[in-house]
Amino acid sequence: MSNDNTTHFGFKQVPVHEKVTLVRGVFDSVAGQYDVMNDLMSLGIHRIWKRVAVQLANVREGERVLDLAGGTGDLTVLFEKRVGSSGQVVLADINAAMLRTGRDRLIDRGLAANIRYAQVNAECLPFADNSFDCVCIGFGLRNVTDKEAALRSMHRVLKPGGRVIVLEFSHPVDPVTEKVYDFYSFNILPKIGAFVAKDEDSYRYLAESIRMHPKQDELKRMMEAVGLERCEYFNMSQGIVAVHRGYKF
Ligand code: SAM
Repeated sequence: MSNDNTTHFGFKQVPVHEKVTLVRGVFDSVAGQYDVMNDLMSLGIHRIWKRVAVQLANVREGERVLDLAGGTGDLTVLFEKRVGSSGQVVLADINAAMLRTGRDRLIDRGLAANIRYAQVNAECLPFADNSFDCVCIGFGLRNVTDKEAALRSMHRVLKPGGRVIVLEFSHPVDPVTEKVYDFYSFNILPKIGAFVAKDEDSYRYLAESIRMHPKQDELKRMMEAVGLERCEYFNMSQGIVAVHRGYKF
């Protein structure tokens, strides 16, 4: 957060208490087109980023996973396969429209028995201490107003030996990628949003929120500050996306 009273919403400064409503507006607006937009915007590469994140989580059969800010459930589907029928995945999100879209999609795929749904704010998780083997937040942390509170809450609900995975847009590691990516994000992406999702502003917010997100090393320090150990990160697509991983011991 920027100071006691304001925080950023994309490049705008807004009162802290308003950010959650503004973010909700974005995801209420895009929920119906969210999956198709992900494929279009990333040319399907988001599927690879998600697979890599799940591999790095190294989840085993019988484990309990929290897919936080899980939206329409892409990561839940991948985790569900790994934990099997003796495990459980909780798909949790602050936004009812995203959760509803996700739940309908997972039920249509015949996935239900080991999946639970919860409408929660990542900043104050309503789960018991030490209750998950893995807490994963995919493309969600950037939208949370108080990221430190969310990381603290994620650490609290993690079992000793468990790991936190943060999959998030990050910062390109070389200037050429950065230039091309900036051009794409601010000139092309909002136009795709306008055309497909009829919502240019939400996709401009997406580009801005990515620029405001902490850089790789800073996020690693934030994870260490809440008590996560052996923290490291893995850049993908030249740092456009990074997976951060930390353990609780
Ligand atoms: N994880 C999914 C994926 O990778 O496709 C969805 C990511 S979507 C870009 C971001 C999600 O974060 C939205 O569904 C939004 O509702 C959720 N979100 C935003 N702020 C949140 C908060 N404070 N607590 C929980 N979820 C939040």
